[in-house]
Amino acid sequence: MKYRSLNKKAPNTTFKDAVVRGIAPDKGLYFPESITPLSTSFFENIDDFSYEEIAFEAIKQFVTPDIPEPVLKTIIAETLSFEFPVVKVNDQISTLELFHGPTMAFKDVGARFMARCLGYFNQNNTEEVTVLVATSGDTGGAVANGFLGVKGVNVVILYPSGKVSDIQEKQLTTLKQNITALEVDGVFDDCQDMVKRAFMDEDLTSKMQLTSANSINVARWLPQMFYFFFAYKQLHKRHKDIVFSVPSGNFGNICAGMMAQQLGLPIHHFVASNNENNVVTEYLTTQLYQPKPSVQTISNAMDVGNPSNFIRIQEIYKNDFESLKSNLSSYSFSDDDTREALKELYTDFSYVADPHGAVGYLGCKAYLQTGQDAHCVFLETAHPTKFLDVVEAAINKKIDLPPQIEAVMDKEKESISITTYEDLKTVLLNTIG
Ligand SMILES: *Cc1c(COP(=O)(O)O)cnc(C)c1O
Repeated sequence: MKYRSLNKKAPNTTFKDAVVRGIAPDKGLYFPESITPLSTSFFENIDDFSYEEIAFEAIKQFVTPDIPEPVLKTIIAETLSFEFPVVKVNDQISTLELFHGPTMAFKDVGARFMARCLGYFNQNNTEEVTVLVATSGDTGGAVANGFLGVKGVNVVILYPSGKVSDIQEKQLTTLKQNITALEVDGVFDDCQDMVKRAFMDEDLTSKMQLTSANSINVARWLPQMFYFFFAYKQLHKRHKDIVFSVPSGNFGNICAGMMAQQLGLPIHHFVASNNENNVVTEYLTTQLYQPKPSVQTISNAMDVGNPSNFIRIQEIYKNDFESLKSNLSSYSFSDDDTREALKELYTDFSYVADPHGAVGYLGCKAYLQTGQDAHCVFLETAHPTKFLDVVEAAINKKIDLPPQIEAVMDKEKESISITTYEDLKTVLLNTIG
């Protein structure tokens, strides 16, 4: 498969090159040159396929021949080493739990897949690749964990000092090996700015291969198609019209769902569920796309004012507003709505959600209130303990820490404090050589 840049000013390239670069030389996002739907018999017989076989069929055309088929099978098996259960909430609503991975965030899937692809591409290289990420909390842990011990790859993570939860900080700073955590004296935007500056700094990029590990990278974005297939497999016998409500920030996850639909997966409709960062909700109402500075909310992994994958969504719908609108609804909710939803899910259905999942639940309710006869699945993108304070306060109950989290809390933090871009540069230049 070849990839083209959505800015149209860079040459088409291979999967390998798209993964190693992250972003095209013209700063465009990479997009597959073609999408070939899977056969109808595949969907008719989906019950006969294992999750690993389904994932293989779904992603094969996008990654071969750069990743040979037997290698791809191994990468998939290692990526999918945990459960993806659909849990019923009521007759019309279910949740797809994506938090059973090592860091209890859905980003585990994309991060683990990408790490293994990069590891494969780099196995015979003497030169190392450095993955540079800024995190407001969740991404960093999943990326760090996914890349831990991968040969030829160094990971440098920037996080804002004092602004991530204790659990999140432990997940970032206790792994060591090829993972370096940088504690930045500043806010998330400062971390992000430093990362952007590093990618543009020729003094650095001439000396080292830097890449990103956010959903801009095709190897992190595309494997997110898998779990839409898994949910379909679990639900299709009981429900005809399946709708996915996806708590969205950079819109990578929902955009991967739309790719699954392009492959022929029978998805009836999508709901983009947003907190008060509502650019896309507004766009679907006014047809005006107006990026804004992000506002802070309790579902902070979705505090994004200019979703990077929106351009890929526009590409899927060929920039046709009506065709996008007929397949996508979007709603935006306040923190108070979210707290109420957490409480309602707990008291009415004994379900403990996290704030992001709660926004997804509200999206299902809003969509179903328009009178649609469908089954709505909201994606539960993180385990509730990752947002312990908010959840415990909303449901008025203490929740137990799962073993993955317990294990990390006892480990010792190791981080390097930095203040300026020059500090970052010094660290980066020291990690090579
Ligand atoms: C990253 C994240 C999201 C948003 O996903 P996008 O692909 O950026 O839309 C939602 N919930 C949680 C918990 C996340 O970590």
